[in-house]
Amino acid sequence: MQTLRMNTENLPEFLEALKDWGKLWAPVEREKKVFSLEPIDDVSKARPDALTTIVPFKKLLLKPRFTMMEGPPGGTVKDSRDNDAGPQVFFGAHACDIHSLKILDLLYLSDFVDPYYARNREQLTVVGYGCWPDEQCFCDSMDTSSADDGFDLFLSPLEGRYLVAINTSRGDDIVRATPHLFEEDSPEDAQDYLAYLKRRKEAFTLKMDVDDLPYILELKKDDPVWDELGKKCLCCGSCSMVCPTCSCFNVIDELHEDGIARRVRVWDACLFRDYAVVAGGHNFRKDRADRVKHRYYHKQEAFVRKFGMPSCVGCGRCIEYCPTGINVVEVFQHVRGEL
Ligand code: SF4
Ligand code: SF4
Repeated sequence: MQTLRMNTENLPEFLEALKDWGKLWAPVEREKKVFSLEPIDDVSKARPDALTTIVPFKKLLLKPRFTMMEGPPGGTVKDSRDNDAGPQVFFGAHACDIHSLKILDLLYLSDFVDPYYARNREQLTVVGYGCWPDEQCFCDSMDTSSADDGFDLFLSPLEGRYLVAINTSRGDDIVRATPHLFEEDSPEDAQDYLAYLKRRKEAFTLKMDVDDLPYILELKKDDPVWDELGKKCLCCGSCSMVCPTCSCFNVIDELHEDGIARRVRVWDACLFRDYAVVAGGHNFRKDRADRVKHRYYHKQEAFVRKFGMPSCVGCGRCIEYCPTGINVVEVFQHVRGEL
């Protein structure tokens, strides 16, 4: 991986240049300290120093709701390209976002390729940015606080400049298109980068103990902690919608007023009451406690067994946006008997 240096005053021109590679998405401050990932034309709105955005980048790859196919009842049905977004650039990806992208790739591109995801994924350019920990994130505990691959370019902020890591040929092409924005990095940059990494590591306040967690969960399947959690959880699905790795969806056939039948795909959540209902009406997880427990077991136990890593990157969004204050770190402290 090659590294270069870019002065901070070059950022606007760099962002303008990124537009040549697709629709540019960047974190924007919607209200004080509330950030959302939005398509931008005015590059001065981009806030690379943003805290975590509300809804993560997964919406760039799979829209919350899109038409898969459509046609008149009894007539010819055509595939729809409703979800196809064309070339897109995700600027400001945090390291945890990049790890989430790898998890989504495992889910959607390994055993059975999801064509809707794959078409957008192929055309996605990822430009990472070295974020600073907030009070809810615990990515350092999940080993996702830095990324060695999974991006095209990555900007690490240092005093008055960025250290720019180039990871792909596309990243290299972007740099070669605007060579005047970059210069060779120096030993001083490397020194400052190491000091930055040390300060950043010390800035994490929330930590989660993941040692032996899948095994402990195996032992704690009938622990009363899950019933207590079921009383507190509304099963509103908010945590799933904002989670960068939650990927459940449903497929629904609809007949619209224009006389066209459409098969649509919508984001779903295993927390919703009807998620596990099967033909005949039986619900495999009819109690809220079963559903919320399932979400935690899927992320920290089943996924580890199948893919060798949890499907939680410690971004903290589920903590921030839970209306009843459920905190994943505290849940596992309860499971361990520490609270
Ligand atoms: S956001 Fe909170 S209340 Fe809503 S489903 Fe998730 S854990 Fe339950
Ligand atoms: S479970 Fe929570 S902390 Fe983990 S990746 Fe999802 S939203 Fe982030």
